[in-house]
Amino acid sequence: MKEFSLFLIPIYLCCCIFCLFACKDNEKKDIVDYYPKYDISLKIDEENVDCSVSIDYTSNITSNFIILQCYSISYQKAVVDEEYIEETYPNGVNFGKTYIESISVDEKICEYMVNSENSSIIVYSPVEYGRNTRIKICYKLKLANLKHRLGYYNSFYSLCSFYPYVCPIVDGEYSVREYSKIGESELLHTSSFNVSVSISNNYVLIHTGEEINKTTENKIDTYHLQANNVRDFAIMYSKNVTMRSSTENGINFRYYYQKDSTPFDEIEIMKTATATFEKLFGEYGHKNLSLVLAPFPFGGMEYSEVVVVSDSLKEQSREEVIAHEIAHMWWFMKVGSDEYYSPWLDESLAEFSTALYYLDNGNGKMFELFRQRGLKELENRLIENKRLSIKGCVNDFTSDDYSACVYTLGSTMWITYYSIIGPTLTDRLKEYATLFENKIATEKDVEEIVFKNDSATLRAWLNGEVTAVGLSS
Ligand SMILES: [Zn+2]
Repeated sequence: MKEFSLFLIPIYLCCCIFCLFACKDNEKKDIVDYYPKYDISLKIDEENVDCSVSIDYTSNITSNFIILQCYSISYQKAVVDEEYIEETYPNGVNFGKTYIESISVDEKICEYMVNSENSSIIVYSPVEYGRNTRIKICYKLKLANLKHRLGYYNSFYSLCSFYPYVCPIVDGEYSVREYSKIGESELLHTSSFNVSVSISNNYVLIHTGEEINKTTENKIDTYHLQANNVRDFAIMYSKNVTMRSSTENGINFRYYYQKDSTPFDEIEIMKTATATFEKLFGEYGHKNLSLVLAPFPFGGMEYSEVVVVSDSLKEQSREEVIAHEIAHMWWFMKVGSDEYYSPWLDESLAEFSTALYYLDNGNGKMFELFRQRGLKELENRLIENKRLSIKGCVNDFTSDDYSACVYTLGSTMWITYYSIIGPTLTDRLKEYATLFENKIATEKDVEEIVFKNDSATLRAWLNGEVTAVGLSS
């Protein structure tokens, strides 16, 4: 996500001491990777969606139960902090609903319990380590009227974070992550998706993956979609979007918008950003990349093969947000990381990559602006005795600290290190991206591969002991 403020963020007056207890263990190391397969069938009728989701996976734990993470449940409450309510819910606060109809494991109907506090579902079915398991969940969604990942506004529908997934196994246990109002909470394994979508034929469908075929009957389109080696699957639909496309280096770039007088500018930015990051960090690895100008309360949001830029954003800020979200195709989508316990891992790299995008395309001034912005933030935070540490669980931060530390100071760490070791840094990042393609990297991996013998630099930034390191360059 790009935390680009659409308006001034009010200063936090309260002290978030509780947050310190919310996420205790910042560095989770033993993440067991697996590659689930999803079979999803959706029948869409505007804000009402009938869903059937089957997940095939090999259990990495022996347990009497399975825990599913299901963020659609979070939409039964307000999904943003107080200061973003008005921007997110322009038509008044209202809530979505997830009606679960049945859950079965290996075709046996199971009992389950929904925990709306942390958006999880406990399914009472034993699982065995190493055994293939198929979970099927049938449910109905009613989308809320809001500008967010899951919901609709101004006849634009966003169906993201709509399906449950098996909680990741960390340190031998299910790792449930409560929904975060300021950032993302996910730890997603590379997956494959087979998705069937039925929707009235006057809608344009935007999605992750390839369209395998489409049939039309009684004015209903049925799409068969497929995606491999992706972290998630995003769907959006609207009757009022225009699409422009262009193909370059085997990638189909598509841009969807409701209003834009110069749509080809955005396509050029997409192409340039993708080419820059391919050169610096290695191949994109997919055939499609879509950019959507959509209702969203923050600057932008990334999904596999689909990036969103807020339609409330000023036109001159779009380039930066597009580059940031496309950088996430490497940092989070290609190289997975834990957005809940280590949000700096993908966000600081996406922000640094944006600065590199400018530098690599002849805009050294903008790169310098990124550097100055970071140093100014660091100076102010030192004077005001504010948080400096970029490390921490997403819910450990206030909204103000999250944006300043994870994004701004995080990218300043990379920019400062780049000024010391130069292109060796991008070579190491390419090596890191190659080694962890379709896997999940941890802070320790970044330390070993990117910082090599210089882990003191990283540790100083992680722990907020950056007075000397940050200001010396
Ligand atoms: Zn981001």
